Amino acid sequence: MSDSDRALRAAAAYAEDFIARLPERRVGTDASADELRAVLGGPLPEEPQPGADVIDSLIKGTEPGVVATAGPRFFGFVIGAALPTTVAADWLTSVWDQNAGLFAAGPSASVVEEVAGSWLKELLNIPAHASFSLVTGCQMAHFVGLASARHHVLAEAGWDVERDGLQGAPPITVVAGAERHVTIDRALRYLGLGTAVVSAVDADDQGRMEMGSFRDVLARAEGPTIVCAQAGNVNTGSFDPLTEICDAAHEQGAWVHVDGAFGAWAAVAPSLRPLLAGAERADSWATDAHKWLNVPYDSGLAFCAHPNSHRAAMSVHASYLVQSEDGGERDQMDWTPEFSRRARGFTTYAAIRSLGRRGITEMIERSCANARRFADALAAEPGVEIVNDVVLNQVLVSFGDDERTKAVIERVQADGTCWLGGTVWHGRALMRISVSSWSTTAEDVDVSVEAILRCAREV
Ligand SMILES: *Cc1c(COP(=O)(O)O)cnc(C)c1O
Repeated sequence: MSDSDRALRAAAAYAEDFIARLPERRVGTDASADELRAVLGGPLPEEPQPGADVIDSLIKGTEPGVVATAGPRFFGFVIGAALPTTVAADWLTSVWDQNAGLFAAGPSASVVEEVAGSWLKELLNIPAHASFSLVTGCQMAHFVGLASARHHVLAEAGWDVERDGLQGAPPITVVAGAERHVTIDRALRYLGLGTAVVSAVDADDQGRMEMGSFRDVLARAEGPTIVCAQAGNVNTGSFDPLTEICDAAHEQGAWVHVDGAFGAWAAVAPSLRPLLAGAERADSWATDAHKWLNVPYDSGLAFCAHPNSHRAAMSVHASYLVQSEDGGERDQMDWTPEFSRRARGFTTYAAIRSLGRRGITEMIERSCANARRFADALAAEPGVEIVNDVVLNQVLVSFGDDERTKAVIERVQADGTCWLGGTVWHGRALMRISVSSWSTTAEDVDVSVEAILRCAREV
């Protein structure tokens, strides 16, 4: 067997074993950076080494520092697992190694993105005429959506931002909730608008934009205006009232961008869809496939109801590129911030084909049912309080005072049965549970609740 065959087989055999062990594996890791450096570091290698040895030492060196985020009992941040079929598709993505910037460099990659894009719009209840791009995450999806917005609102004010930049441009106002995700602010930084451009709207006790405050802030906005609304608060899972926001913003000629990093997936489930009412009226949307669709990192999704503005903000031309004309083949680099890029469509395509609409709906509904199961079981324990309305997959828990809550979180992390993190919500330190993995079962929840309550009794 050749060295490259041995390397590929070693990786495949390890992958199969790792995935099989995930449900039993300790979820967190105590590996310190120094311990990992000691094994993985060392002087720059001067000489070649057989591929199979490289893979072998990579596996041995990394294993102690791998968190089982892809397993069924990781509830930290909002981190989806990876459906095994999508992992297989991800391997092939690297095997084919297409540069999915241009149709000419990878026709199949281009067509698969085209197909995935149209399936995604149908799943997420986004208008069929919307354009889309597959990017690295919701952060970059915000960048794409807000770059399209920046183009659009300035073009309407007679300004060509792609040619003339922002110096001397009509000032833009951005209206966004006080509890918006930090990636909105970072996208505004990338776009040269800065974070001080935001006029913040007061949030209610669930983190939603408060409508009286929204109307006041919007009424004060002058000139080109972009509203950033949220579908799925990263702490509570709550949704801004999107119908009212879109209607009021559009009446004033403003653009509405929706951050639906995970919340956008509520669209697939009839029981959850009302949370998203009005979202279909927005101008741009950002979400993730690597969170709730459970494809491997990195995979974010941007959609835009104004394809011309989207394309104007992103497109690129060079004499040496073989580019297709409008209406023909899809050159992804006209829609994405990257030039060369990974063929990110294969994993998402595989996820949709393997689960189908029914499987995706079941996965989303199961996550939410398991979040409610967490909340009900924990709330039954004296001294434990569920702080948010559990409308989606997020649960905020208090164990009394801040110190005690933090101590419980630390103990649960050290225990290793499950992993979850903390947050500060409206001045209180809280435990934060996010159910986002395809593989989490009711039994995983019960085992985790047992571990959490055991840790709580021990502190
Ligand atoms: C996770 C998250 C983001 C950022 O998404 P990335 O994929 O990490 O870039 C943005 N908004 C919300 C609400 C999120 O939960």
